[in-house]
Amino acid sequence: MDWLEKISKIKSWRRGDDYAPHKPLLLLLALGALRQNKELRWSEVNDKLSQLLRKYGGKSGLNPRPLYPFIRLQNDELWVVEGFIGISGDAKKSDLDRVNPIGYLEESFADALSKNDKLFDEIVGALISQFPETLIDDILVDVQLSQVSRQFVRSKRDPKFRHEVLDAYDRACAICGNDIRVGDVTVGVEAAHIKPHAADGPCEISNGIALCLIHHKLFDRGAIGFNENMELLISERVNGIASKSLVWAYDGQSANLPHKLSQKPDLKYLAWHQKNILQL
Ligand SMILES: [Zn+2]
Repeated sequence: MDWLEKISKIKSWRRGDDYAPHKPLLLLLALGALRQNKELRWSEVNDKLSQLLRKYGGKSGLNPRPLYPFIRLQNDELWVVEGFIGISGDAKKSDLDRVNPIGYLEESFADALSKNDKLFDEIVGALISQFPETLIDDILVDVQLSQVSRQFVRSKRDPKFRHEVLDAYDRACAICGNDIRVGDVTVGVEAAHIKPHAADGPCEISNGIALCLIHHKLFDRGAIGFNENMELLISERVNGIASKSLVWAYDGQSANLPHKLSQKPDLKYLAWHQKNILQL
């Protein structure tokens, strides 16, 4: 069985482009449990997957539905829910709450993973590579896979993209203007993808925006975004004393954009981010 090929079909990006991170996050949670030799019961999946979806699920995190992948991942023949085998649609939450069944990775899959560390790392790499780079370390810590080798995490860094975007924005964050350099080296300003590379967002200036580390991470988490006039939108969930000066101070403010029209963000990518990621 080519497990890697099977896993490559579990995408966080459905056809039609919607963001659907439920199954990859459940698989990562299950891989973490396998590594720790722990059982995963519905009650725990319900708690932990809801948290993961709130943090990394973009828009779907506003109303997390862990029930959906818990049962439906069985259709991909990688996952089994004891007592619910053969159920391919949705089960009732009340039934799951009452029975509190164990879910586990399909036996031959778990067996292959236990015998082959390289395969384990490759599978984790393939799943985690579907998420924006700024979130990868946080997700791996949350699913107890922080020790896994990053060798198979596909890098989304395209040096040309970074260079072009930073140049177009005068090497400054489009939101706060942070342009700190050490000598000539820009430190802490990055070329963010508006539509993630993993979701087939292109490495073109019109799908990029220069953001400092903190604004990049908030953007990828769906905590901030832009409307069609490139004015900053902020999720009500953003809080903390420093958020007043670092985030809320820019509420509704227009982003600092390149002058050339061809270098400005394309509205179709911004609309995608607003629909799928931004947690407003
Ligand atoms: Zn910034």
